[in-house]
Amino acid sequence: MFTDEDITKLARDIVRSKKTVALTGAGISVESGIAPFRGKGGLWEKYDQEEYGHIDTLRRAPEKAWIMLKEMQNEILKAKPNPGHIALAELEKMGYLSSIITQNVDGLHHLAGNKNIIEFHGNLQWVVCMNCGNRKPSSEISLEKIPPRCEKCNGVYKPEAVFFGEPIPLDALNKANQESRSCDLMIVIGTSAVVYPAANMPEIAKGSGAKVVEINPSKTPLTGFISDYIILGTAATVLPKVVDKIKEDAPGLSI
Ligand code: NAD
Ligand code: ZN
Repeated sequence: MFTDEDITKLARDIVRSKKTVALTGAGISVESGIAPFRGKGGLWEKYDQEEYGHIDTLRRAPEKAWIMLKEMQNEILKAKPNPGHIALAELEKMGYLSSIITQNVDGLHHLAGNKNIIEFHGNLQWVVCMNCGNRKPSSEISLEKIPPRCEKCNGVYKPEAVFFGEPIPLDALNKANQESRSCDLMIVIGTSAVVYPAANMPEIAKGSGAKVVEINPSKTPLTGFISDYIILGTAATVLPKVVDKIKEDAPGLSI
C-alpha cells in the first residue's frame, strides 16, 4: 500500500521536473476491464499469440487470425479510459507531461485525450484494407462475418496494430529513444518493462540522469535496480491523487 507521503513525493517530482515522460503497459488498462497478458483468465491465455497474431496467418488464413482479433476487438472496443488514463491526459493538458510511450494496443490514451502518444504496437481502434489501403474506425466494421472485407475492393481488413513478424515502426522507436534520453523524470506505470523495446526505455532514461518512478501494485525487475522508488498501488487509484495534489498546491511543491 502507498501513503500520502508517496503521493506528495511524486507530485513534487513532477512539478519540479523540466520534462516528464510516462511509459505505460498492460497494467494501466486492467481497471478498464482489459486483462494483461500474464493475468489469469484473459483472452490472451486462450490463443497462441505468435500463431494467431502472426502477420503470415493474417495473410494466408485471415479467417483464423480474425477469430482471435474479433475477441480482442470486442473486449477493447467496449473498454473506456479509467481514472488513470484520464489523470495522464490532465497532466499533459496542464503542461506537466511531455509524452506517453506505450506498448498497449487498446487506444485508451487517445480516447482519454492525450495528444503526444508513442505507440510501439499501433492500436486496434482502426483497420486498414491490406489490398487498397482503405482506412476505417474499427467500430464501423461488422464482425458478423469474418474476416471483415473492404467494401471497395473486397480485400481483408487488418487492424492498425503491429503483428508478430512485423517490425516495430522505426519512427516510434526513434521518438521513444529521444524522449527517454531527454527527460529528467520517467514514470513507469503498469508494466514490468522486461520485454524489448519497452525494457530499454527506463534504462536509457536512467543512463541519461533521469529519475525513474514506478506505479504498480507489485514490485517488478526494475524495482530497486533501475527505479528510484515505487508507489505500490494501482494506476486508477494513485494517478488521480497525484493530479489532485498538483492542482491543490503546485507552487508550494515547486519550492
Ligand atoms: P506487463 O509485462 O506490462 O505486466 C503488467 C504489469 O501491470 C504487471 O507488472 C502488474 O503488476 C501491473 N498491474 C496489474 N494491475 C495493475 C493496475 N491496476 N495498475 C497498475 N499496474 C498494474 O504486461 P503483459 O500483460 O505481460 O503485456 C506484455 C505486452 O502485451 C505489452 O506489450 C503490453 O502492453 C501488451 N498488452 C497490451 C494490452 C492492452 O493493450 N491493454 C493488454 C495485454 C497485453
Ligand atoms: Zn480495399
